[in-house]
Amino acid sequence: MRIVVLTGGIGGARFLKGVRAHARSINADVTAVVNVGDDVRMHGLQICPDLDSVMYTLSGAADPERGWGRVGETWVIKEELAQYGAEPTWFGLGDKDVATHLVRTTMLSAGYPLSQVTAALCERWQPGVTMLPATDDRLETHVVADVEGERKAIHFQEWWVRYRGKVPTHRFVFVGADAAKPAPGVLDAVAEADVVLIAPSNPVVSIAPVLAVQELKQAVADGPAPVVGVSPIIGGSPVRGMADTCLTTLGVEVSAAGVGRLYGPRAEGGLLDGWLVDTTDEGADVPGVNVRAVPLWMSDETATTAMVAAALNLAGV
Ligand code: GDP
Ligand code: CA
Repeated sequence: MRIVVLTGGIGGARFLKGVRAHARSINADVTAVVNVGDDVRMHGLQICPDLDSVMYTLSGAADPERGWGRVGETWVIKEELAQYGAEPTWFGLGDKDVATHLVRTTMLSAGYPLSQVTAALCERWQPGVTMLPATDDRLETHVVADVEGERKAIHFQEWWVRYRGKVPTHRFVFVGADAAKPAPGVLDAVAEADVVLIAPSNPVVSIAPVLAVQELKQAVADGPAPVVGVSPIIGGSPVRGMADTCLTTLGVEVSAAGVGRLYGPRAEGGLLDGWLVDTTDEGADVPGVNVRAVPLWMSDETATTAMVAAALNLAGV
């Protein structure tokens, strides 16, 4: 069996641990199509937060407390940069992490596309799933917000890391999405998939930028594989992170049903055949979509693996 997962960073990476565990038990292949909207160049380095969260988490190198970056990280480079007054000072750049960004940036500068760079980094980390960026093209999430008395578009990282998303926010823009093509391997993976899963990632700033690559979205929406999404909202709460702020900006109800309706039924131009919600949200109504309630707390790998089994069951595969 072939499983394709559309995913963001931390939440998606946790989910992928369960996907990988379940896939091993049924001898399935997993391809993760990862959001690149968070990608940013800082201090001359190309940083890919979601790709790195997935890569580090799946290989056991992620910091479990912080949720991002490497375990056992040190911060000498960050402190030295601050001594120079080098902006941005609000971004956490760990020493170990810098090595990853250096290798990536060197390869990108030499002309390798991000998909090949990612494959090269994964040779070291062996995440156990095929990791593909949604696109090799530039696609960045920018946020139109009122910052220090002025309305402007700032990079998603600045909005989230610097301002904690706590500024009046108007909209999210996926810069470059119109021209972005799916990365090599993405369309084939979707075409050959037995099931496509949408991870319980942030629908607005993790999954939407993946789907902003038009051909990718069309391939999933028109593809032969059933599509099952997993709710990132449990009982009206985003569990961890800022999905509530993002959904409110879009005028979408912060609920499992709200996100399910946002993705919409495949029969009506949406994406979903099935929508998995938490038992707290039993009875959530998403017209045209097969909704099922199971525990959705990714408290450990066993719980997450059970979620994945339920998702595949709902997909009928
Ligand atoms: P990011 O790119 O690092 O922000 O991570 P993702 O977008 O992949 O995932 C973040 C989302 O995961 C959050 O907005 C939450 O809604 C969701 N999430 C986090 N933990 C859990 C959990 O235990 N269960 C479920 N269902 N969703 C979760
Ligand atoms: Ca992210």
